[in-house]
Amino acid sequence: MKSNKTWLFLIVIAVFAVTPSLAQQGYPNSPPAVSPMPMKPEMTEIWEPEVKVITPAKKLGDAPSDAIILFDGKNLDQWVSQKDVTKPAPWKIVDNDHMEVVPGSGGIQTKMSFGDCQLHIEFSAPDIVESVGQGRGNSGVFFQNRYELQILDSYNNRTYRNGQAGSIYKDHAPLVNAMRTPLEWNTYDIVYTAPRFKADGRLDSPARITVLHNGVVVQNNTTINGLTQYIGLHDYPSSHGDDVISLQDHGNKTQFRNIWLRKL
Ligand code: MG
Repeated sequence: MKSNKTWLFLIVIAVFAVTPSLAQQGYPNSPPAVSPMPMKPEMTEIWEPEVKVITPAKKLGDAPSDAIILFDGKNLDQWVSQKDVTKPAPWKIVDNDHMEVVPGSGGIQTKMSFGDCQLHIEFSAPDIVESVGQGRGNSGVFFQNRYELQILDSYNNRTYRNGQAGSIYKDHAPLVNAMRTPLEWNTYDIVYTAPRFKADGRLDSPARITVLHNGVVVQNNTTINGLTQYIGLHDYPSSHGDDVISLQDHGNKTQFRNIWLRKL
């Protein structure tokens, strides 16, 4: 006959024996559970479908084989007037090399619509420096016709930091000022992620943008806070899908060349 103390001891031992270990219960900082079988290298290799092969450009900044050429210096066939989208883009082609804003003619926009994309665009401030601040070499790239990456002659030209070249206009200043002189060409290489909207039209996730200005990161996966506005806070007033890319006429003879895009 066992004593009560002996029974109690046996019960405690039995409870410990059937209780799972902390690791088995998934507690953090406990030793990992042992894999039921040893892993082999090929168990974490994914082969299908094969990654699509493209041909990169010979020169950095030129279009790879899967890019859509939006402007090659020769014509404005991929663009229309923003004042009347049934009319050709009214800007000037110079020397079969670049285009130049015709002040007062209005902005231009692509014929095609886009969402997520990689965009390469080259621009130069007007050769003759006129005016100051926002009045100097002002233009802009509008993604989905709404969200502006500012173009400005920011070479020795102070203005508000969230309005200079490389800024998301009146939203985010660039990390640095990487602007070249008005007689030189600048590049923007941009990775743009469109905003997502819920079925009821409310914002699901905001747009995001990464920008390299002359090869220098000036926007690093930046959250775009909404529709670009000259006056007032930015937000997302309504849902939208793919839309055109537009270039701004801000009254300055800003020049553009070598524009290409890859859909992502
Ligand atoms: Mg602008």
